[in-house]
Parts: sequence; structure tokens; C-alpha cells
Amino acid sequence: MTKVHNFSAGPSILAPSAFEKSIEDIRNFAGTGLSILEISHRSKQFEAVMDETRQLVADLLNVPSNYDILFLGGGASTQFYMVPHNFLRTAAAYTKTGVWASGALKEAKLYGDVKVVASSEDANFSYIPKDYTIPADVDYFHCTSNNTIYGTQMKSYPESPVPVFCDMSSDIFSKPVDVSKFGLIYAGAQKNMGPAGVTLVIVNKDLYSRRSDRPMPSMLDYKLHGEKGSMHNTPPVFPILVSKYNLEWVKEQGGVKGMAARNAAKSSLLYSAIDSNPHFTTKVAVEDRSDMNVCWVLAPGSEHLEEKFNTACKEAGISGIKGHRSTGGYRASLYNALPIESVQALVHVMETFA
Ligand code: PMP
Repeated sequence: MTKVHNFSAGPSILAPSAFEKSIEDIRNFAGTGLSILEISHRSKQFEAVMDETRQLVADLLNVPSNYDILFLGGGASTQFYMVPHNFLRTAAAYTKTGVWASGALKEAKLYGDVKVVASSEDANFSYIPKDYTIPADVDYFHCTSNNTIYGTQMKSYPESPVPVFCDMSSDIFSKPVDVSKFGLIYAGAQKNMGPAGVTLVIVNKDLYSRRSDRPMPSMLDYKLHGEKGSMHNTPPVFPILVSKYNLEWVKEQGGVKGMAARNAAKSSLLYSAIDSNPHFTTKVAVEDRSDMNVCWVLAPGSEHLEEKFNTACKEAGISGIKGHRSTGGYRASLYNALPIESVQALVHVMETFA
């Protein structure tokens, strides 16, 4: 069988060691003679997994001690309303840089006044807006670090007079980030962390004193989840376990600095292949190109080659490069665990095709 090169946008490629170790734990978890899938989340063996995963996140991202590290259910989409439920008292500032950013601000509108301080909707979200001002009279500023569908990525963060909240679903653990500059970070696991089913939230506990006074169902309460060590209800045990093993791999590879070097090498290889190929082009602003999701289209005049290119990719085992249904074209996701050999295989097909 041809080797499959997995460019899926999420759920996506994970470290092979994460699968091997998890399979063993499905058979016999931590010497208990039971499967991880059938043991209590309150067993000392699973509590150890929870502690170790939390510690890995703290170490990899250098999380300051006044932050809670939470493992919650509901996907990043639940954070779209959990964030404003907790922290939007009167108004919040949002950037509109893609489908997910728009989803986040739509939900926030259910809770109060949302000021869209910057948008790239005018050019189909092909760039990251810059030079905007965040008002001081809002409760927080929300942005999306990497726009998974459009292949744009924030390379820096604006100065903000209010706490910065960020959806880092598609580039967390891909490079160093100064957590102390953020009030809250959230990320669905299913790109660089682990399988779908768990969402990481890193939140500055000092913000709990500024919470809204609206009624607070327990499951929406960050403070409670923090106090209960993400064990207020049954946590997504298996996704947390696999995340632990995947993050151990990240650590072994040099941590997030190691990942940044690895990811930059992959993305520059692919972007040069696109830029130098007459059949392909990309609409993404050069300075905002994402290291995680590389989006491109067939150049004008080469559109008729679509089927031929798709077949060539298929024959070479290239999987998951179809662009999002809203953009068309192609998107190769180069998350942490994707080896450079997979990018070389894709580039080889593109070159041969030209
Ligand atoms: N934010 C971003 C940046 C995403 O890429 C996605 C999903 N791909 C989401 C939010 C939604 O995540 P979930 O499916 O976990 O709710």
C-alpha cells in the first residue's frame, strides 16, 4: 500500500508514539488489568494522567502559576459562548478574520455589545488586519491566532488596554507563545494537541474577580472547573490520555521551539513550490501566510487541470488537501506531527505536474 501523507485540517495527524502507547492503555491501563476506557476517572491512575497532562501544558507553554489549565468538553465552539458568559459584562472587542472568528463574535452578541475592531471580510479573509485600536472601555479583546480555513496567521499581537482572549485552536503548541500576555487562551485539541473531544483552556485566575454577574450554570463556570481540577464532571478521559502522549512527543522533539523550526521548514518548502509553479497561485497575503494551513488554487488558465492534479496526488498517497467547502482550491495542513517527507512528497507531485 502507498504510504498515506495526512494533510487533514482536523482531526489531523498525531505522533505515531501517541497511538502506540494509547493502544496499550486500551488493553491494560497502567498495570491495572483494565482498559482506560472502563476505569473510573477518579482512579489514582487516571488522576495521575490528568496531573501529568496539565504539567506538560504548563512546561511546554511556560504557563505562569496564576493561570488555570482546564480540560473541558464541547469543542472550541463551546468557548465561543462560555467566554462571553463569564466575562462579557457590557461590551467586548472582536476581530473578524474568518469563519471561526465570525462564529465567536456571533455568539458573543447574545451577551452584549460586540465591537468589531478589525475585519478582513472585504478581501475574503485573505489577510490579517493590522493598525487597529482596541478601545479601553470594553471587557476584553478576542482574536483568532490562526484562520484554519483561509491559511492566515497572526505573527504578532496588538497592544491592548484590556485582557486579550485568543482562539488558538489551529496553532497552539506549534511555536512559543507568551501566555502572560493573554487573559485567556482556548483550543480544540484536534489539531496539534490530541484527538477531538477535549478543549484546552488556559485562563488567568485574576480575571475571576471581574466576572459577569449573570447566573452561572456549573458547567459554564471556569472558576469551578479550576477548583475541581477539570473533574467537576467526567472529563474526556481518552482524548486527555492521547493528548498526554502526543505532548510528550512534542517535548521530546525540543518542545514548542523545536516545533516552530520544524513547521517553518515545512511551510517554506511548500510556499516556494506554489510560488515557483506556473499552475498554482495563492491569494493569501505573503506576510500573513500560515505555517499550519497552506491554501492555494489553480492559477487562471490552469483550472482545467484540476482532475489531473487530483489524480496525481491520489496516486502519490496525498490525503486531505481539498480546500474547505467555502473556499475551494487546496489546503495542506502541516501540523506538528506531519513529517517533512510528506511535504516533500506533495512538492514532488507539484513539480512533476508542472
Ligand atoms: N476555531 C478554530 C480556529 C477552528 O479551526 C475550529 C475548528 N476547526 C474551531 C474553532 C471549532 O472547533 P470545534 O470543532 O472544536 O468546536
